[in-house]
Amino acid sequence: MKADLFDQRRLLELQAVDTQLTQLGQRRKKLDADPVYATAVQRQRALADKAANLTGDLADLDRDIERVEREVELVTKRADSDRTRMASGAATSKELEGLQSELESLARRQGTLEDDQLELMERREVLESELGEVRRQVEESRQVLADAEADRGRQLGEIDAETADATSTREALAINIPDRLVELYERIHAKQPIAAAELVGRRCGSCRLEKSPADMIPIKSAPIDEVIRCEECNCILIRTELPQSKPTTLGSEEELKKYT
Ligand SMILES: [Zn+2]
Repeated sequence: MKADLFDQRRLLELQAVDTQLTQLGQRRKKLDADPVYATAVQRQRALADKAANLTGDLADLDRDIERVEREVELVTKRADSDRTRMASGAATSKELEGLQSELESLARRQGTLEDDQLELMERREVLESELGEVRRQVEESRQVLADAEADRGRQLGEIDAETADATSTREALAINIPDRLVELYERIHAKQPIAAAELVGRRCGSCRLEKSPADMIPIKSAPIDEVIRCEECNCILIRTELPQSKPTTLGSEEELKKYT
């Protein structure tokens, strides 16, 4: 394929923009897999779960406390009524004996219930302080997550803006390069990240391999508007060390000497 060398050189600018776009894509992927953000999300979820579990435990405990309170109330009422009956003088001695024995049993029951009550209240206190601490941690992790989200949003915004800039730069560049040359570039670029590279001395700017002097002979003798490809990596090799004027062919020996 033939193409004006100056158009070929524009491919290097196109390549630079494409490299920038690739890097922007990589930055976006890296951001998606950001461990700080992922850890913050996980910690937030774990703490919220823990707080929910503790809140549930506390509600269970409150129900137990209420149940014991109700039972204490029943025991107290029963003992009061037994004592009233005993004091009434209407009870037979056998009944009095039974009431006395029931009062003793009720007193023992009340004692057990009061012990239970005390134990439940102590557990409640521990649970409440634990829940307080977890709620504080939830708040803290919510802040860390909000900061991480803000930072991520800011970085994504930067990437979006730079991508938009690079995309419009690319469009403007591509318009000024002949279609056939752009098409060739695109075909190569679809297969490899570097589709066009500078030939620096004898070295390909893409694969970095140095051509042998024998390999350089056809490159040097090729017409200036010939599109050269690297045999190693297949990219379009751009001869930037050629004369700066705009000849259509490399006509003279003198011009050849300038870059050999
Ligand atoms: Zn190469």
